[in-house]
Amino acid sequence: MKRRSFLRVGAAAGAGVLAACSSRPIPRPGVGVLVVGGGVAGCAVGYFLALQGLEVTLAERHGVAGYASGHAAGQLSPLAVPEPVRPLAAASFGLHLALWDHLRTTSGVDFEARRSAMIRLALDRADLPALERALAATRRDQARLAHALDLGPGHGLDVVPMSGDEVRALEPRISDEVVAALRTDGNAVIDSRGFTTALLRSAQRAGLVARRGEVGALVTSGRRVTEVDLGGARVRCEALVIATGPWAGALGRRLDLLVPIEPIKGELLHLDLAVDHDVGTGVGNDRRGGRDADLRTGNEDGAGPAVDWSGPDSSLYARGGRILVGHTWERRGFDLVPRADTRDLLLAHARRLMPAVATAQVLGHTACLRPVPRDGRPLIGRAPGWDNVYLAAGGGKKGILLSLAMGRAVTELIAHGRTELPIAACAPDRFARTYQVPSP
Ligand SMILES: Cc1cc2nc3c(=O)[nH]c(=O)nc-3n(C[C@H](O)[C@H](O)[C@H](O)COP(=O)(O)OP(=O)(O)OC[C@H]3O[C@@H](n4cnc5c(N)ncnc54)[C@H](O)[C@@H]3O)c2cc1C
Repeated sequence: MKRRSFLRVGAAAGAGVLAACSSRPIPRPGVGVLVVGGGVAGCAVGYFLALQGLEVTLAERHGVAGYASGHAAGQLSPLAVPEPVRPLAAASFGLHLALWDHLRTTSGVDFEARRSAMIRLALDRADLPALERALAATRRDQARLAHALDLGPGHGLDVVPMSGDEVRALEPRISDEVVAALRTDGNAVIDSRGFTTALLRSAQRAGLVARRGEVGALVTSGRRVTEVDLGGARVRCEALVIATGPWAGALGRRLDLLVPIEPIKGELLHLDLAVDHDVGTGVGNDRRGGRDADLRTGNEDGAGPAVDWSGPDSSLYARGGRILVGHTWERRGFDLVPRADTRDLLLAHARRLMPAVATAQVLGHTACLRPVPRDGRPLIGRAPGWDNVYLAAGGGKKGILLSLAMGRAVTELIAHGRTELPIAACAPDRFARTYQVPSP
């Protein structure tokens, strides 16, 4: 594979992980790596491959960030991630913090990256024991995270119990029902569509070629994929990366691979709290206006961390002047249609946290599919039985957070045959079934 100049990217957090790449040359000539899927996973793989100087083409059948990657809440919290994936989540969080500047500069895309706080609300005294347990668990998680990222003092990680009154002093529109809360500092948020686009643009600047088309039939020789059908045309490839999210099983089946990733539907509402609707006429009437109409950031100059709110049944995310209300978790196959009954349920739950939602204007309603692996761990690495096929799929409900570690790990495996990122628990061969090498 052709190799361009090796770019070293590093910054305080995650610099150790970033510097881990060696510059051993890639021995084999060829037409390059074909990454299938223009979601955040595929774009992250493409980004790192292009920065490594490898020849890379990304194939997307519809539009980049057209599915879950363009419609996620954009939370990057590495906390409350189950143990086998926790070290990878911490590493990926470090990569996010380290790479934001590089991505913004090289892509020209502002993906609204900010540090953030999450305030978890208890609506009655019955919720308090759960809040206590969350306090202890979050303290443990944050200590681990600070250690994993080698963060010194003043790293901004904190968890603080709050009374209902303290919560309402911060955001007066929070319901009087709220009796207590837990504020977790040190998280981060991004606009997931902007972020995915930034990865692609930055990769294109480094040489990635993006092609529109569906990858269907795969031509194999021994343990290698040699050609693919891309939108009706045959394309030769040196290596293939399957990054097709909830559709990864379909390409896997063509290679007799078991890829047990299930689509889990999630719906989000986009609300404008600034417009008070005159119920009955439906005519918008801007009574509040300005920053005061947005959810409070916890910092009146707007430069501080964003604040997201979560309750027992719903969450409120302040994003770009809008409030996102989410999110649901449903098994409905590949159904991508937003449902009216889900919208009503989301609004009812959100109203309990913030009664002002009752008069908000619903600007948008999206439904998307999280790629959720059977055991909750993404599939990252070389596909069992194949020498040049890799998987970067199954980010589940943390796919935006995990994307950079997934992209980096797969790139290092392709370029160097090894990675120092902690992906052992994510090896695709844990699902390997009896495998027959196909006849040439
Ligand atoms: C409501 C909701 C909220 C979320 N919030 C968060 C959050 O706050 N934080 C977080 O970290 N994660 C969040 N997630 C999860 C996250 O969005 C996903 O894990 C992530 O976007 C998955 O990215 P992906 O690239 O694997 O898949 P996708 O985004 O689904 O992309 C896969 C792409 O592959 C393409 N494709 C499929 N088959 C082919 C083929 N044969 N040929 C060519 N192209 C093909 C598709 O067209 C698609 O564009 C949320 C998800 C939902 C639904």
